[in-house]
Amino acid sequence: MAARVAGVSYVGPDFDPPQPRRPRRGPLTVALAALVPGALLGWVVYEAVGGSGSSGSGSTTAGPRTSAASPSTAEPWSAPATDDGKQKSPSPSHTSRASTADGPLKGKVVVIDPGHNPGNFSHAAEINRQVDIGTNKKECDTTGTSTNAGYTEARFSLDVAHRLRTILEQQGATVKLTHDGDSPPWGPCVDERARIGNTAHADAAISIHADGSAEGDRGFHVILPASVHAGAADTRPIVGPSRDLGERVAGNFLRVTGEPPSNYVGKGTGLVTRQDLGGLNLSTVPKVFIECGNMRDSKDAALLTSGAWRQKAAQGISEGIVSFLRES
Ligand SMILES: [Zn+2]
Repeated sequence: MAARVAGVSYVGPDFDPPQPRRPRRGPLTVALAALVPGALLGWVVYEAVGGSGSSGSGSTTAGPRTSAASPSTAEPWSAPATDDGKQKSPSPSHTSRASTADGPLKGKVVVIDPGHNPGNFSHAAEINRQVDIGTNKKECDTTGTSTNAGYTEARFSLDVAHRLRTILEQQGATVKLTHDGDSPPWGPCVDERARIGNTAHADAAISIHADGSAEGDRGFHVILPASVHAGAADTRPIVGPSRDLGERVAGNFLRVTGEPPSNYVGKGTGLVTRQDLGGLNLSTVPKVFIECGNMRDSKDAALLTSGAWRQKAAQGISEGIVSFLRES
């Protein structure tokens, strides 16, 4: 997204205030608690505590046991016997990857929308034409932004989309991209991007972007659809599930990448609600945008131009999507 966010609108209840500190929470968990409200909080805390392999008082997973009454064993991963005498399946890892390795997304459809298109730069007339987004008319598409050194948002978003597709397909999902940078050699227009998700009956759709704000503006944010009902736009059925999807993507993106929530929009939550995006207004399936960072900030640009970091970004996004789809 090249434009600064003007007139950010919040709908629905305000976010819960940060939860009070609990004795065993480390700094990461506290940071997540501040970011992630409501139902997701418990899930993230479970992930954070379970992932440590210790001190999780409520943990039911196999792993190192700290009770003095436990049978003596030197094997940290030995599975405890259950009441019926059978061994629980040993858990090779306490991370979410372990439980999702056998294709939990089979039958699920995910539409990935790489923001902009590298070809937009040479198709100004096509992308400048106005399209109807329900609430008003808007350009078909824009070129997007770039780093000061010229790495474009369109290349970034397409690269993250490819990485995300690979991860989701490995988990059994059917993945469709709104474009692959080639055919057509520009766009598609924002209304068509929404329609592709609708026609595919996507269980979740996500549009990948990086922002173009001022130096010093840092961090990621996830954009949620506002409730709009005008013309062809009616987001009322998707506002709730899209928020759920967005909260899970934000929490997992933060956890995996370490990228902080935006310091210039979203009041530190990493979540922003907007009613001016055709790709959200015209969606009939749960959909969010993610602005992974600010391409015009030198610190964020160093991350966004790193292939290793983009892999983390795709991983974090994928884990948010997996979390959402496993609950839906
Ligand atoms: Zn963009």
